[in-house]
Amino acid sequence: MDPKIVTRFAPSPTGALHLGNARTALFSFLMARAAGGRFLLRVEDTNRDRSSDAFMSSQLSDLAWLGLSWDAGPDHDDGRGPYRQSERESIYDGLYQKLELEGHAYPCFCTPLELDLARRAKLAAGQPPRYPGTCRELDTAARAARAAEGRQPALRFRVPDAGVIEFEDLVRGLQSIAAATLGDFVLRRADGGPMFFFCNAVDDSLMGVTQVLRGDDHLSNTPRQLLLLQALELPVPRYGHLPLLLDASGAPLSKRRGSTTIGELRACGYLAAAVGNYLLRLGHTGAPDPWVEPVDFAQNFRLDRLGRAPAHFDAAQLDHWQREAVRRLTPEQAVHWLDAELPADWSAQERLELAGLLQGNLLFPADAADWLSVLRGELPPLTAEDSTVLAEAGPAFFEAALAAYHEVGADVGALGRELKQRTGRKGAALFMPLRIALTGRHDGPELAALLPAIPASLVRARLTGAARAH
Ligand code: GLU
Repeated sequence: MDPKIVTRFAPSPTGALHLGNARTALFSFLMARAAGGRFLLRVEDTNRDRSSDAFMSSQLSDLAWLGLSWDAGPDHDDGRGPYRQSERESIYDGLYQKLELEGHAYPCFCTPLELDLARRAKLAAGQPPRYPGTCRELDTAARAARAAEGRQPALRFRVPDAGVIEFEDLVRGLQSIAAATLGDFVLRRADGGPMFFFCNAVDDSLMGVTQVLRGDDHLSNTPRQLLLLQALELPVPRYGHLPLLLDASGAPLSKRRGSTTIGELRACGYLAAAVGNYLLRLGHTGAPDPWVEPVDFAQNFRLDRLGRAPAHFDAAQLDHWQREAVRRLTPEQAVHWLDAELPADWSAQERLELAGLLQGNLLFPADAADWLSVLRGELPPLTAEDSTVLAEAGPAFFEAALAAYHEVGADVGALGRELKQRTGRKGAALFMPLRIALTGRHDGPELAALLPAIPASLVRARLTGAARAH
């Protein structure tokens, strides 16, 4: 246990939470919980045009649904907030000033056009398209002259000319990069808006984050963020970069491409425990093969078992965990899960019994519709194979079944014995035609549980129908 561990998830509210981000959030959460540390939620909403409150609340709701809880976040501060970057401007302003005063940052008056031309010139010369340093050494007079032209400067970080930046990535091991390859980077845009790397790094540090887990797409930001924090003399967290989650075609899952979102999975009826069990094993080999209860996720999370290879989204695996999760629902939970599908006029007792009866045969609530027809409505059309089974049993068998049902009622054991006496059939030769005639299919919940749930009038009508048709 290391209560000093502080992790965080830092979503940008520019879209729905998708599986890839949910995995990053879950792993960060589990890392904190496994150590008895703290887990924070910070909303990175500096991109005003693309961020929205609606996305923020849907992401928070999806995280809570997944079972994540945060010790501080936009909904409750611990004194180190605010936890929305759009409310932290005054903090950022102080840090820009400090960096500029100490010579770590300088105003850059280059226009987008000038920057573009410089970039092209570098590329044409076969060099990396780094900022050429145009405004790096401007003296006070030159700056004043540009400001007098009405140019609004960006603030650029002065990257040291020499030296190597090294860090031990929590997932990928030692990383090292020459500072000279980085180029001076923008901290604050000309319109005053902060840049992602800046707020992201200083917030982690100011909020006391000790371990950052995030997607691989941020790996190239890390050296710049390390330089920045060193220049500010702020504590530096450890960073770990998770390989991206790819879809079936090998493309990264991303909110912009409309990949599988947690909201879509919820709407479909996936259970949080199923999604959790799936994510727990996605690029992480610390969990055992069998089902893990969500309360035990943290003790089954191992940082040193995070893989470096990209993980692929596999719908069949997700469905495997969904099946496991549905099977584990208590009858009360099953009723809740199926609620929208169950007829409104059913009593609480009927709901409880039937939800319990069906849950082993459902993957999603919508699958209940077929079984509800079996219980209360029309049977589905028979397959050719099932028709053959009924034809083989013949009318006399179903007439005998009708008489036996009349005699003993819905107790399948007693019905079987009675029918065996009357027809001489037993085992599958007895129960299979009976099941098909009563339910329209050859599989499904135990007949012993189904039969009492079908109204007697329907049972009689189905047996009579089978006797007539075959
Ligand atoms: N807001 C960033 C994102 O959503 C977070 C990056 C990070 O975790 O450091 O990609």
